[in-house]
Amino acid sequence: MKAGFVSIFGKPNAGKSTLLNALLGEKLAIVSPKVQTTRHRIKGILTQPGYQVIFSDTPGIIEPKYKLHEKMMHAVKGSLEDADLALLLVAADDRLEESDEIFSSLRLKAPAIVVLNKIDAVSAASLEAAIRFFKEKDYCKEVMAISALHRQHIDELLNKVLEYMPEGEPFFEEDNISDLSTRFFVAELVRERIYTLYEQEIPYETTVLVASFEEKTTLTKIRAEIIVQRESQKAIILGEGGKMIKRLGTEARGAIEEFFGRKVFLELFVKVRPKWRDNENFLKEYGYQ
Ligand code: GDP
Ligand code: MG
Repeated sequence: MKAGFVSIFGKPNAGKSTLLNALLGEKLAIVSPKVQTTRHRIKGILTQPGYQVIFSDTPGIIEPKYKLHEKMMHAVKGSLEDADLALLLVAADDRLEESDEIFSSLRLKAPAIVVLNKIDAVSAASLEAAIRFFKEKDYCKEVMAISALHRQHIDELLNKVLEYMPEGEPFFEEDNISDLSTRFFVAELVRERIYTLYEQEIPYETTVLVASFEEKTTLTKIRAEIIVQRESQKAIILGEGGKMIKRLGTEARGAIEEFFGRKVFLELFVKVRPKWRDNENFLKEYGYQ
């Protein structure tokens, strides 16, 4: 039996959450075209005959501007500590030097594979150049090329990962796919819809808290609070005559029903909490430890 921990690092938008979902074959991590969608360390547990691999998706590596960002980078550091293997994810169509700088500064203890993602978005020549660029870096054991979105070369990557896993007994029961709570996933699915429905600063200044969660016989009743920083943002979340929040509610409910495979009744409320992103107490209450 093999069992071990694998952490996925990289710049915002490299495709880390998409890769976690592709590896697990389940949608655990929310994904959006906007940066800073992932705010927590999300563990996905893959248990198969002969092995268990615990993958950690992490927030993209950024310079912290708010306490929220500090908590996010804390999640990255936590993932650095216990990894048996690091997957350093790079969007092949992005500036490679920026990723190289970040990877050099990580002070990795574990061996690292550089994974070039989004191979569907670059020419064969620039992919070759990217492979050559990373192959000679000190932190890089080897380079793999994938498309997380199109699930290309995911099996090869998984086989490679297994070569690096230590012998050992599983850490989690085999039917666990994550260490995070149901409430967490519900809040994340609402947050994902906020990233796609609202523009400008709204997604970055908003968080979601599941205030109550009740399993009834025919459906699950959920009350979620959307936290914003200003009254004007509350008005934007609601939209004219409540049009936007209604759409948000409908889309989020659909996603939650798909996740649970059962009917959901979802109530959304908007609360204004000035500067919650810089307030230790609010951050704690909203699950950013
Ligand atoms: P993260 O910030 O690193 O977690 O990145 P996400 O997983 O949220 O993905 C960021 C964006 O890149 C999303 O719009 C994804 O659909 C997109 N993306 C991820 N993998 C691929 C890929 O293989 N090819 C292309 N073209 N886009 C991808
Ligand atoms: Mg992410």
